Amino acid sequence: MTTSTVSEHKTAPAEKNFLPGPVLLLGAPGVGKGTQAKALMAAYGIPQISTGDILRANIKNGTPLGKMAKTLVDQGTLVSDDLVNQMVADRLQQPDTHRGFILDGFPRTLNQATWLDSQLAADTKTLPVVAISIVVDYEQLLHRITGRRVSPAGRIYNIYTHPPKVSGICDVDGSALVQRPDDSEAVFSDRMKTFEAQTAPVVEHYRNQGRFEEIDGDHPVDQVTSQIEAALKRLRQHPRF
Ligand code: AMP
Repeated sequence: MTTSTVSEHKTAPAEKNFLPGPVLLLGAPGVGKGTQAKALMAAYGIPQISTGDILRANIKNGTPLGKMAKTLVDQGTLVSDDLVNQMVADRLQQPDTHRGFILDGFPRTLNQATWLDSQLAADTKTLPVVAISIVVDYEQLLHRITGRRVSPAGRIYNIYTHPPKVSGICDVDGSALVQRPDDSEAVFSDRMKTFEAQTAPVVEHYRNQGRFEEIDGDHPVDQVTSQIEAALKRLRQHPRF
Protein backbone atom coordinates (compact mmCIF):
# COMPACT_ATOMS: atom_id res chain seq x y z
CA MET A 1 0.00 0.00 0.00
CA THR A 2 1.34 3.44 -0.89
CA THR A 3 1.68 6.33 1.54
CA SER A 4 -0.76 8.45 -0.42
CA THR A 5 -3.35 5.69 -0.29
CA VAL A 6 -3.32 5.68 3.45
CA SER A 7 -2.96 9.40 4.10
CA GLU A 8 -6.10 10.07 2.15
CA HIS A 9 -8.01 7.90 4.60
CA LYS A 10 -6.89 10.20 7.32
CA THR A 11 -7.78 13.40 5.53
CA ALA A 12 -11.22 12.25 4.36
CA PRO A 13 -13.78 14.96 5.27
CA ALA A 14 -15.46 14.54 8.64
CA GLU A 15 -18.87 14.23 7.05
CA LYS A 16 -21.75 12.10 8.23
CA ASN A 17 -20.44 9.09 6.37
CA PHE A 18 -16.85 9.40 7.51
CA LEU A 19 -15.59 5.96 8.48
CA PRO A 20 -13.46 5.12 11.53
CA GLY A 21 -11.02 3.16 9.32
CA PRO A 22 -10.98 0.35 6.80
CA VAL A 23 -13.81 -2.04 7.66
CA LEU A 24 -13.38 -5.81 8.02
CA LEU A 25 -16.61 -7.79 7.75
CA LEU A 26 -16.15 -11.09 9.55
CA GLY A 27 -18.50 -14.03 9.91
CA ALA A 28 -19.32 -17.57 8.84
CA PRO A 29 -20.45 -18.40 5.30
CA GLY A 30 -23.98 -17.07 4.76
CA VAL A 31 -24.11 -14.46 7.54
CA GLY A 32 -24.62 -11.76 4.91
CA LYS A 33 -21.14 -10.26 4.56
CA GLY A 34 -21.51 -9.75 0.80
CA THR A 35 -24.98 -8.22 1.08
CA GLN A 36 -23.93 -5.90 3.90
CA ALA A 37 -20.68 -4.96 2.16
CA LYS A 38 -22.69 -3.82 -0.87
CA ALA A 39 -25.00 -1.73 1.35
CA LEU A 40 -22.01 -0.11 3.07
CA MET A 41 -20.32 0.47 -0.27
CA ALA A 42 -23.37 2.45 -1.39
CA ALA A 43 -23.69 4.34 1.91
CA TYR A 44 -20.02 5.31 2.26
CA GLY A 45 -18.89 5.42 -1.37
CA ILE A 46 -15.97 3.05 -0.82
CA PRO A 47 -15.27 -0.27 -2.55
CA GLN A 48 -16.07 -3.75 -1.34
CA ILE A 49 -13.09 -6.05 -1.67
CA SER A 50 -14.33 -9.62 -1.62
CA THR A 51 -11.59 -12.21 -1.98
CA GLY A 52 -14.25 -14.79 -2.90
CA ASP A 53 -15.54 -12.54 -5.72
CA ILE A 54 -12.01 -11.90 -7.01
CA LEU A 55 -11.31 -15.64 -7.04
CA ARG A 56 -14.62 -16.42 -8.79
CA ALA A 57 -13.92 -13.73 -11.43
CA ASN A 58 -10.51 -15.33 -12.08
CA ILE A 59 -12.12 -18.77 -12.35
CA LYS A 60 -14.74 -17.45 -14.78
CA ASN A 61 -12.07 -15.78 -16.92
CA GLY A 62 -9.82 -18.86 -16.88
CA THR A 63 -6.76 -16.95 -15.61
CA PRO A 64 -3.77 -18.90 -14.22
CA LEU A 65 -4.88 -17.85 -10.72
CA GLY A 66 -8.42 -19.05 -11.47
CA LYS A 67 -7.17 -22.41 -12.74
CA MET A 68 -5.11 -22.86 -9.59
CA ALA A 69 -8.00 -21.90 -7.29
CA LYS A 70 -11.00 -23.54 -8.99
CA THR A 71 -11.00 -26.93 -7.27
CA LEU A 72 -10.33 -25.41 -3.86
CA VAL A 73 -13.11 -22.82 -4.19
CA ASP A 74 -15.62 -25.37 -5.52
CA GLN A 75 -14.85 -27.62 -2.55
CA GLY A 76 -14.96 -24.78 -0.04
CA THR A 77 -11.30 -25.26 0.90
CA LEU A 78 -9.20 -22.20 1.68
CA VAL A 79 -6.78 -20.96 -0.98
CA SER A 80 -3.20 -20.45 0.25
CA ASP A 81 -2.46 -17.41 2.40
CA ASP A 82 0.34 -16.21 0.09
CA LEU A 83 -1.91 -16.24 -2.93
CA VAL A 84 -4.79 -14.45 -1.25
CA ASN A 85 -2.52 -11.92 0.49
CA GLN A 86 -0.96 -11.03 -2.85
CA MET A 87 -4.41 -10.62 -4.39
CA VAL A 88 -5.37 -8.22 -1.62
CA ALA A 89 -2.06 -6.33 -1.88
CA ASP A 90 -2.67 -5.81 -5.60
CA ARG A 91 -6.25 -4.71 -5.04
CA LEU A 92 -5.26 -2.18 -2.36
CA GLN A 93 -2.97 -0.48 -4.87
CA GLN A 94 -5.96 0.60 -6.94
CA PRO A 95 -6.94 4.25 -6.51
CA ASP A 96 -10.56 3.58 -5.57
CA THR A 97 -9.34 2.34 -2.17
CA HIS A 98 -7.91 5.78 -1.31
CA ARG A 99 -10.90 6.88 0.75
CA GLY A 100 -11.29 3.53 2.50
CA PHE A 101 -12.45 0.03 1.72
CA ILE A 102 -14.51 -2.85 3.07
CA LEU A 103 -12.87 -6.27 3.22
CA ASP A 104 -15.36 -9.10 2.87
CA GLY A 105 -14.09 -12.67 3.38
CA PHE A 106 -10.58 -11.57 4.31
CA PRO A 107 -8.71 -12.19 6.57
CA ARG A 108 -9.79 -15.79 7.05
CA THR A 109 -6.74 -17.18 8.85
CA LEU A 110 -4.52 -15.79 11.61
CA ASN A 111 -1.65 -15.63 9.08
CA GLN A 112 -3.73 -13.43 6.80
CA ALA A 113 -4.72 -11.23 9.76
CA THR A 114 -1.11 -10.79 10.84
CA TRP A 115 -0.09 -9.99 7.29
CA LEU A 116 -2.87 -7.40 6.95
CA ASP A 117 -2.05 -5.81 10.31
CA SER A 118 1.59 -5.44 9.32
CA GLN A 119 0.71 -4.03 5.88
CA LEU A 120 -1.49 -1.36 7.40
CA ALA A 121 0.82 -0.64 10.33
CA ALA A 122 3.78 -0.19 7.98
CA ASP A 123 2.45 3.28 7.25
CA THR A 124 2.21 5.29 10.44
CA LYS A 125 -0.53 7.47 8.97
CA THR A 126 -2.94 4.63 8.46
CA LEU A 127 -6.11 4.42 10.46
CA PRO A 128 -6.41 1.07 12.20
CA VAL A 129 -9.04 -1.29 10.91
CA VAL A 130 -12.41 -1.73 12.57
CA ALA A 131 -13.86 -5.22 12.61
CA ILE A 132 -17.55 -6.06 12.46
CA SER A 133 -18.42 -9.67 13.22
CA ILE A 134 -21.85 -10.77 12.01
CA VAL A 135 -23.33 -13.72 13.89
CA VAL A 136 -26.16 -16.05 12.80
CA ASP A 137 -26.92 -19.55 14.15
CA TYR A 138 -26.06 -22.75 12.24
CA GLU A 139 -29.58 -23.82 11.13
CA GLN A 140 -30.38 -20.38 9.81
CA LEU A 141 -27.06 -20.29 7.90
CA LEU A 142 -27.75 -23.67 6.34
CA HIS A 143 -31.13 -22.38 5.13
CA ARG A 144 -29.60 -19.23 3.75
CA ILE A 145 -26.71 -20.94 1.98
CA THR A 146 -28.66 -23.73 0.33
CA GLY A 147 -31.32 -21.20 -0.77
CA ARG A 148 -28.82 -18.72 -2.20
CA ARG A 149 -28.85 -18.03 -5.93
CA VAL A 150 -26.64 -15.49 -7.68
CA SER A 151 -26.72 -13.66 -11.00
CA PRO A 152 -23.60 -13.52 -13.19
CA ALA A 153 -23.31 -9.83 -12.18
CA GLY A 154 -23.21 -10.84 -8.50
CA ARG A 155 -26.75 -9.94 -7.41
CA ILE A 156 -27.77 -12.15 -4.53
CA TYR A 157 -31.21 -13.78 -4.08
CA ASN A 158 -32.59 -16.44 -1.78
CA ILE A 159 -35.34 -18.79 -2.92
CA TYR A 160 -36.87 -18.78 0.60
CA THR A 161 -36.37 -15.26 1.89
CA HIS A 162 -35.66 -13.02 -1.11
CA PRO A 163 -36.86 -14.81 -4.26
CA PRO A 164 -36.66 -13.18 -7.69
CA LYS A 165 -40.01 -12.15 -9.24
CA VAL A 166 -39.64 -14.90 -11.85
CA SER A 167 -38.10 -18.13 -10.57
CA GLY A 168 -34.47 -18.52 -11.64
CA ILE A 169 -34.25 -15.11 -13.34
CA CYS A 170 -32.52 -11.94 -12.12
CA ASP A 171 -35.03 -9.09 -11.57
CA VAL A 172 -32.54 -6.49 -12.75
CA ASP A 173 -30.94 -7.82 -15.93
CA GLY A 174 -32.97 -10.96 -16.78
CA SER A 175 -29.94 -13.25 -16.54
CA ALA A 176 -30.23 -16.84 -15.31
CA LEU A 177 -29.54 -17.31 -11.60
CA VAL A 178 -27.21 -20.08 -10.50
CA GLN A 179 -26.31 -21.88 -7.30
CA ARG A 180 -22.62 -21.62 -6.41
CA PRO A 181 -21.07 -25.14 -6.35
CA ASP A 182 -19.87 -24.46 -2.79
CA ASP A 183 -23.42 -23.66 -1.62
CA SER A 184 -24.48 -27.33 -1.50
CA GLU A 185 -25.26 -28.73 1.95
CA ALA A 186 -22.21 -31.05 1.99
CA VAL A 187 -19.77 -28.30 1.07
CA PHE A 188 -21.47 -25.92 3.52
CA SER A 189 -20.75 -28.31 6.35
CA ASP A 190 -17.04 -28.41 5.40
CA ARG A 191 -16.92 -24.62 5.09
CA MET A 192 -18.37 -24.29 8.60
CA LYS A 193 -15.70 -26.63 9.96
CA THR A 194 -13.05 -24.54 8.23
CA PHE A 195 -14.62 -21.39 9.67
CA GLU A 196 -14.51 -22.77 13.22
CA ALA A 197 -10.94 -24.02 12.91
CA GLN A 198 -9.32 -21.21 10.92
CA THR A 199 -11.47 -18.08 11.01
CA ALA A 200 -12.99 -18.10 14.50
CA PRO A 201 -9.47 -17.32 15.88
CA VAL A 202 -9.36 -14.29 13.54
CA VAL A 203 -12.59 -13.01 15.09
CA GLU A 204 -11.01 -13.38 18.55
CA HIS A 205 -7.84 -11.63 17.34
CA TYR A 206 -9.82 -8.52 16.37
CA ARG A 207 -12.13 -8.73 19.39
CA ASN A 208 -9.02 -8.56 21.58
CA GLN A 209 -7.75 -5.52 19.68
CA GLY A 210 -10.79 -3.54 20.79
CA ARG A 211 -11.98 -1.76 17.63
CA PHE A 212 -14.59 -4.48 17.21
CA GLU A 213 -18.36 -4.94 17.38
CA GLU A 214 -20.50 -8.04 17.13
CA ILE A 215 -23.79 -7.74 15.24
CA ASP A 216 -26.79 -10.08 15.33
CA GLY A 217 -27.32 -10.91 11.66
CA ASP A 218 -30.64 -12.71 12.14
CA HIS A 219 -32.77 -9.69 11.17
CA PRO A 220 -33.97 -8.18 7.89
CA VAL A 221 -31.12 -6.86 5.74
CA ASP A 222 -31.95 -3.15 6.31
CA GLN A 223 -31.99 -3.60 10.08
CA VAL A 224 -28.62 -5.31 10.05
CA THR A 225 -27.22 -2.50 7.89
CA SER A 226 -28.54 0.08 10.39
CA GLN A 227 -26.95 -1.85 13.26
CA ILE A 228 -23.61 -1.90 11.44
CA GLU A 229 -23.81 1.82 10.66
CA ALA A 230 -24.55 2.55 14.33
CA ALA A 231 -21.59 0.38 15.35
CA LEU A 232 -19.30 2.23 12.92
CA LYS A 233 -20.46 5.51 14.41
CA ARG A 234 -19.63 4.28 17.92
CA LEU A 235 -16.25 3.01 16.74
CA ARG A 236 -15.43 6.53 15.52
CA GLN A 237 -15.33 7.56 19.19
CA HIS A 238 -13.01 4.69 20.07
CA PRO A 239 -9.42 5.75 20.81
CA ARG A 240 -6.77 4.59 18.35
CA PHE A 241 -4.03 2.36 19.60
P1 AMP B 1 -16.61 -16.54 -0.10
O1 AMP B 1 -17.27 -16.03 -1.30
O2 AMP B 1 -16.00 -15.46 0.74
O3 AMP B 1 -17.46 -17.48 0.69
O4 AMP B 1 -15.34 -17.41 -0.61
C1 AMP B 1 -15.51 -18.53 -1.47
C2 AMP B 1 -14.27 -19.39 -1.45
O5 AMP B 1 -13.14 -18.63 -1.92
C3 AMP B 1 -13.84 -19.90 -0.09
O6 AMP B 1 -14.54 -21.07 0.30
C4 AMP B 1 -12.36 -20.19 -0.35
O7 AMP B 1 -12.19 -21.36 -1.15
C5 AMP B 1 -11.96 -18.99 -1.20
N1 AMP B 1 -11.56 -17.83 -0.38
C6 AMP B 1 -12.21 -16.63 -0.29
N2 AMP B 1 -11.58 -15.80 0.54
C7 AMP B 1 -10.51 -16.49 1.02
C8 AMP B 1 -9.47 -16.18 1.93
N3 AMP B 1 -9.42 -15.00 2.57
N4 AMP B 1 -8.53 -17.13 2.17
C9 AMP B 1 -8.55 -18.33 1.53
N5 AMP B 1 -9.51 -18.69 0.67
C10 AMP B 1 -10.49 -17.78 0.39
